[in-house]
Amino acid sequence: MRLVELKESIEHHIKQISEYTATPGKGTTRLTYSQEDLKTRNYIKGKMREYGLEVREDGFGNIFGKLEGTLKDAPSVMVGSHFDSVPHGGSYDGPAGVVAALEVAALFVKNNLTPKYPLEVVALVEEEGARFGGGLMGSRGMVGLLGEEEFQNLRDTNGISTVEAMVEIGLDPSLPKKRDMKTIKAFLELHIEQGPILEEKEIPIGVVEAIVGLTQLEVTIKGQAGHAGTTPMDRRADALVAAANIIGRLPELAEEEGEGTVITTGRLNVYPNGANVIPDHVVFSVDIRSGKEENVLNVIEKTKNLVHSVSKSGIQTSVEQLLYIQPKELNRGIRSLLKEKSEALEIPYCSINSGAGHDAMVLSDYTDAGMLFIPSKNGLSHCPEEWSDSEDIARAVGIFYETAKILTEAE
Ligand SMILES: [Zn+2]
Repeated sequence: MRLVELKESIEHHIKQISEYTATPGKGTTRLTYSQEDLKTRNYIKGKMREYGLEVREDGFGNIFGKLEGTLKDAPSVMVGSHFDSVPHGGSYDGPAGVVAALEVAALFVKNNLTPKYPLEVVALVEEEGARFGGGLMGSRGMVGLLGEEEFQNLRDTNGISTVEAMVEIGLDPSLPKKRDMKTIKAFLELHIEQGPILEEKEIPIGVVEAIVGLTQLEVTIKGQAGHAGTTPMDRRADALVAAANIIGRLPELAEEEGEGTVITTGRLNVYPNGANVIPDHVVFSVDIRSGKEENVLNVIEKTKNLVHSVSKSGIQTSVEQLLYIQPKELNRGIRSLLKEKSEALEIPYCSINSGAGHDAMVLSDYTDAGMLFIPSKNGLSHCPEEWSDSEDIARAVGIFYETAKILTEAE
């Protein structure tokens, strides 16, 4: 494999796909089933055919390019990511993974490999949820988590349904939707990190250990309203002072826990919210994330204890858990294979957790899934400044190529 050639090819794909935007000069805006989707789709399908893959779409418009294996009816080793974007996003979130997958397949063909298990490149729709909401639509649909009726009922902000939008760009919503997951042997996804860790460490590859769990708590503090001028300090039950005390100490809880645990208060509502009234009621959010469930549970417990510790006469506290999503560990075997191949190729790597959800997270419940991250310049994503080095994408292609050779039992 010649790195320079591979890098050029990757740059060409990224540049070409980035031109399919509804907001030229103002970042990538590629909503699902839009004209920009169609142009990108045609580009991806064209490259799949050029690289010798058999092209197919499903009833969601997910694109598959298959390189047959010699074993009859054997499950595929799938590589890919999504190709939609947020409004005014960047050129790498999603396409980096699709482009890497295309180049892995190209290497199989160029090197005349004969896999026993098929290799399949996948380009998924509507991961961001920017048009129909919710997100992860292509992968959730593929595994059967999004039923026919639910899919048909989804509408964009203009009232256009998924089916109408598909037909508009010539897609066929009556094609099979749910995939028999027995037909997938493994799933590999490359994604940009969308954070600052790899860049700061100057490491080109992150092997994703887990997709972090997410907990949202809602904390309510009740005190006693009063006149800001006439209520003496020792007679006050100020709900905001109590809340501020708690919020100021939350970061310590995550720092003590370590292992990448993070905690955030992003929303705070103060009642009655008047400059001359002592606040009697405060509600705020606490968002807790970590790659290990144990860490998440510990921090939830410590947060509850901290909140209740400010209860005293006149101050009442309560904590409600609004959301709990378990952290998802990616497949152990694939993780070690990715590390082994990075070492063999002398590519520096480190373990990392993903702070955001990805298609691999959905697929990891149904098949052996593995993920690689590459650095994001200045940690930026979902903005026109989003940038990653195509040399890092090329490195990931090398690791996936070697890993896919093992998984497909190619010779
Ligand atoms: Zn993405």
